[in-house]
Amino acid sequence: MHLFQYKNGELYAEDVPVRDIISEVGTPVYIYSHDTLLRHLMAYEDAFRSIPHITCFALKSNSNAAVIKLMAKHGGGADIVSGGELFRALRAGVPPGKIVYAGVGKTEEEIRYALKSKVLMFNVESEDELKELDRIAGGMRVKAPIAFRINPDIDPLTHPYISTGLKKYKFGIPIEDAVEYYKLARRLRNIDILGIHKHIGSQLTKISPFVDALKKILALIDKLSKQGIPISYLDIGGGIGITYKDEAPPHPSQLAQKVLPMLKGRQLTIVFEPGRSIAGNAGILATKVLYLKNGHKKQFVIVDAGMNDLMRPSLYDSYHHIQPVVKGRRGAIVADVVGPVCESGDFLAKGREIPAIKRGEYLAVMSAGAYGFTMSSNYNSRPKIAEVMVKGKQFALVRKRETYSEIIKGEAIPDFI
Ligand SMILES: *Cc1c(COP(=O)(O)O)cnc(C)c1O
Repeated sequence: MHLFQYKNGELYAEDVPVRDIISEVGTPVYIYSHDTLLRHLMAYEDAFRSIPHITCFALKSNSNAAVIKLMAKHGGGADIVSGGELFRALRAGVPPGKIVYAGVGKTEEEIRYALKSKVLMFNVESEDELKELDRIAGGMRVKAPIAFRINPDIDPLTHPYISTGLKKYKFGIPIEDAVEYYKLARRLRNIDILGIHKHIGSQLTKISPFVDALKKILALIDKLSKQGIPISYLDIGGGIGITYKDEAPPHPSQLAQKVLPMLKGRQLTIVFEPGRSIAGNAGILATKVLYLKNGHKKQFVIVDAGMNDLMRPSLYDSYHHIQPVVKGRRGAIVADVVGPVCESGDFLAKGREIPAIKRGEYLAVMSAGAYGFTMSSNYNSRPKIAEVMVKGKQFALVRKRETYSEIIKGEAIPDFI
């Protein structure tokens, strides 16, 4: 059941009226549902309970400490892409043995930090990175556990900006060259080959690209095994989509139905890296209507949340459902819902039919729990907004709204001015 629902015309987050949160915390505000986050994690845990597995929540989708802690508390790990995310994961209590580290541009400093922290494995994306890992690990007298991120050249049938598994993108190692890379890794003294990794893109709504990519990877694992290179961790990435509008993405149990038979008889620990499918529909963005404006050809609803708070519509032209916090009896209007940022690209919805809303009323931007706050910025010197987590009848501020002085913290004026 969806936990952002209307009761008597009033939008609730679990058992709390969104209006109550707004009156205490103000707007704009991200609101996350504890039980939804947990249910989404458990969907993976339950679906794959019959085999060794780790669900590594992709921190880039939502890296709030409370969210990470909730994942860790219920057995989840972390998929990280930077030293900053490693810091967050460790601080929230994610066991290092459940942390996988991806990304094409890991710096020496980040590599040292991850080696020192003893993360489960580095998902290596290039020969240069492999050699750098070997050199740094050697200097530290440790071994670097690795998987190669393999690019299986599969079209995930999603938006090009969030598609990664085709040859033309910067991610991973071409599957044809994979054996050579593993052979090279075997020759390096400070590298410990642990696994294989793939992640072909995000917001996948079909299982077939998953299955096609997995087939290719399993064939590669067999090839490696013939060369005497055993693989014990199979990281199949994240990417399962969510319903923003009318998409019907697969449930983890449907994925398991396809994937489990393919893994029969193999001694592999499976790693998942879901982000969006855990956090996306576990969060909303509540915003206040500041002004209504009738342009020559268009009607605008100007709200207090902007592209710096939720970048996805501007960046990917992506759809977020927008609905009033209090329903009431209203007609409908067609409008652009726009923010206060000084950019024409600052919109949350374009040409959208929404209930006729008035100044001072509130709107909820749905499906905003993933790639919402984490992609937000201080553009236009707008303070980062507050985040709240709801559990049943309780709610708590899990990140307070930034102040102006926090925005400029760290800036300095040099003597020569
Ligand atoms: C972004 C990313 C994920 C998470 O993707 P979702 O679509 O949010 O599930 C997982 N793994 C890697 C390597 C990523 O870059």
